[in-house]
Amino acid sequence: MATATSSTRVNGQRLWDSIMAMAEIGPGQHGGSCRLALTDDDRQGRDLFIQWCKEAGCSVVIDDLGNIFATRAGQDPTRPPIAAGSHLDTQPHGGKFDGIYGVLAALEVVRTLNDHQIKTTAPIEIVMWTNEEGARFAPAMLASGVFAGLFEKEFAYSRRDSEGKILFDELKRIGYLGEQPCGDHPLGALFEAHIEQGPILEETHHQIGVVVGGQGQRWFDVSVKGQDSHAGSTPMPGRRDALVAAAEFIQSVQQIAHQFAPHGVGTVGELTVLPNSRNTIPGEVTFTIDIRNPDDAALLEMATALYDRGSAISERHQVDLALDEIWHNPPVEFDPKCISAVRNAAGQLNYRHQDIISGAGHDACQVCRIVPTAMIFVPCEDGLSHNEQESAEPDDLEAGCNVLLHAMLAMTE
Ligand SMILES: [Zn+2]
Repeated sequence: MATATSSTRVNGQRLWDSIMAMAEIGPGQHGGSCRLALTDDDRQGRDLFIQWCKEAGCSVVIDDLGNIFATRAGQDPTRPPIAAGSHLDTQPHGGKFDGIYGVLAALEVVRTLNDHQIKTTAPIEIVMWTNEEGARFAPAMLASGVFAGLFEKEFAYSRRDSEGKILFDELKRIGYLGEQPCGDHPLGALFEAHIEQGPILEETHHQIGVVVGGQGQRWFDVSVKGQDSHAGSTPMPGRRDALVAAAEFIQSVQQIAHQFAPHGVGTVGELTVLPNSRNTIPGEVTFTIDIRNPDDAALLEMATALYDRGSAISERHQVDLALDEIWHNPPVEFDPKCISAVRNAAGQLNYRHQDIISGAGHDACQVCRIVPTAMIFVPCEDGLSHNEQESAEPDDLEAGCNVLLHAMLAMTE
């Protein structure tokens, strides 16, 4: 048995081939993937992943939310494993890389250690989290959330898909209801390699993003109540048009996000108009707001600004405007030691790298609340993700995997 040296490198071609082989299961219509959580395709993807892990000499444990842990033994079995992973489920029109890359990069680390007969002190572990996307069963990052104690297990089990099928039944049906209680699994550290899903690394010509944390989010349901009335016979002065008031408020969401540039973002993605009739002034509008900021105090300021604008608009348009905050997910800061391991690995490997904050949610953003965690980003073409055209360069994927290898090795010492 050997020890790793700074010249040890992963096999980029093998990593690429594995990603392409996984993409053959549950292919999308336009070159991407459609492997929704706990479907037959998900089962097939899991089966293939476990087969690969066993061929790489790993022992496999499945917990009672279907999370998979594949362990390569270390010299000191009393040490908790140094883990890396992500998710294999995809969006309905998903890409081949989102999540899959992180799982298979961790597998490639294990295969590389095997190639070079490298012994580590702590065990090395590959993790696959169930239902990260939330596309079939809302909310997203569900099983990693249970693992981190953020959701109750019974809540997760009871989630239903659009056909009314229950998560627990589907987990059992595909044969992935394991025995280990979810969360009852010590981890010494967790890394997640992922495509950036944004344009920053591409724009700045960096190959590696050292992810230092994730944004906080606040979600609101907004209801605007005015009065339905005739579009022809109601004079303009005195109308109580809920849609006009909502339109002004939606603009405010964008203005507030711009005020908190570059990190603040704000989105209205859902809107319902009643009665939704061409010749009736809309009396009621409901919509959603999603605001995000990596700084919790700034996020609260954004929320406060929303409330202020809301009351001004409500007065001006003579409508009732109710802003109901339904979710606050505070920002996360990753572990300094894990972040350093990633940054040092990127530096030693001579990859152009920068610190970055994750705009999207990830399993790592849940588990980091109980386990020392960091993430590694690699660029994806035009920052496009949750899209079948999602694309990443083999070179970048290989670089991210090399960083993962050396960051994990640094943590096993
Ligand atoms: Zn993902």
